[in-house]
Amino acid sequence: MSQRAEFNPPVIQDSFARQIMEQAWDLYCKFDVHGKLTYASSRCLDLIGYMPEEFQQIVGLIDSEYRIDLHKLFIQILQGSSSSKLEFRARATSGAHLWLECTAFPICDTQGELLEIIFALNDITLRKNQESRLVAMAFRDPLTSLPNRRLFKEHLLQQLQQAKRTNRAFALLYVDIDDFKIINDTMGHDVGDAFLQEFAKRIQGCLREVDTFARMGGDEFTILLPGVDCSEHVESVAQRIIQCVEQPWEVQGHTFTTTISMGITMYRSDQTDAVQMMKEVDIALYQVKGKGRNHYQFYDKACANSPADC
Ligand code: GH3
Ligand code: MG
Repeated sequence: MSQRAEFNPPVIQDSFARQIMEQAWDLYCKFDVHGKLTYASSRCLDLIGYMPEEFQQIVGLIDSEYRIDLHKLFIQILQGSSSSKLEFRARATSGAHLWLECTAFPICDTQGELLEIIFALNDITLRKNQESRLVAMAFRDPLTSLPNRRLFKEHLLQQLQQAKRTNRAFALLYVDIDDFKIINDTMGHDVGDAFLQEFAKRIQGCLREVDTFARMGGDEFTILLPGVDCSEHVESVAQRIIQCVEQPWEVQGHTFTTTISMGITMYRSDQTDAVQMMKEVDIALYQVKGKGRNHYQFYDKACANSPADC
């Protein structure tokens, strides 16, 4: 028997109650205690793209990770719960993604016998999209869309934990553009901004997907290279980045060249912590800047204690 033939017309006889239900929720539907759909409200078509009588097919549009939770929601009501809520994602027939908030509750007779189960749904797509934009903003640099300092710190802490667990080293690189102020001063702040955006894209192109590239602020960037055990490997990445930056830049009609300086440190032992590693790359970067810029340097404990010898 087809879905259409199984579907019964609306069974809410009380038109007042029906109007309230239709106003209160974007969509609502009723199931009998065996889980058979007995009614779906008319806005089904606007919201999901199915006619009410085709509503049973919505199961195929629900993101698979939420299907079991929706089933559990039904079981909870069947087992006596007075109301239960779930937010889930589905796809409309148009292909658009929808977030729906579902409130499930029972309809009982005067003896308390369960007659049917209502699923009342509201379209919360707008709120969910705003929430995910806010979360993204909290962890992304607005100019370059790179991870910001906060997200970088989380990645560094994760990397440290993983290195302690697996005993596999990783490298931390601290990059600062040389004489960036000159770009701002001679070509304007807008060109400086556009350059930072291009810079982010170009460096990203030198890295693997697993690497983290973040903007710490201003013209300072950090790079995490996980799973690199030897300094030669890190050195080849550093050289590649430096050479890549040395290629001419064309930004908003201006052609120019620029260079970067880089401090590098490697995870050495499980005694290493995030603060210490950040301090080390800072010292190494400071030394590169002091020696005339356009180069990289690994942190060296001996140099840090007596920089005059290095
Ligand atoms: P150094 O070689 O020693 O690194 O000198 P620098 O000229 O690059 O200067 P420094 O790194 O100390 O300072 C970075 C400058 O970047 C300072 C600030 O005016 C500028 N800046 C910071 N944030 C932005 C931004 O979002 N956009 C633009 N256009 N400029 C920025
Ligand atoms: Mg700089």
